[in-house]
Amino acid sequence: MAEECLFCKIFAREIPAKEVFRDEEIVAFDDIRPVAPTHVLVIPKEHIPGIHDLTPAHATMLARMVQVANRIADERKIDRDGYRVVFNKGPQAGQTVYHLHLHLLGGRAMGWPPG
Ligand code: AMP
Ligand code: ZN
Repeated sequence: MAEECLFCKIFAREIPAKEVFRDEEIVAFDDIRPVAPTHVLVIPKEHIPGIHDLTPAHATMLARMVQVANRIADERKIDRDGYRVVFNKGPQAGQTVYHLHLHLLGGRAMGWPPG
């Protein structure tokens, strides 16, 4: 656990979040400032700053993060209409929290290219 990391603290339940999934490795919770009707963040327990810091050793964990997102999409019944999965990396992509997180976005039409 990294000191002063917001998402490490959410994983440790030191900061509350509206959790929609939890196991020993992964937690998913509603984004505090949703930009779509479904806006869920999926995070690993391990403090990894971002997508560019992943190694082959993280492959199974990363696949599980995607599986959790897919399961939540099923539960929210957005799987048919479609949804978007986003990892922001660095300031130009809009990353503000430097603990790996997957955004699950759905429930409305998404523009392309993204803003
Ligand atoms: P990013 O900009 O890709 O780093 O995404 C960080 C996300 O974390 C943003 O969408 C924020 O709205 C969200 N966020 C920040 N603080 C919290 C919090 N305490 N609980 C839930 N989501 C949060
Ligand atoms: Zn962290």
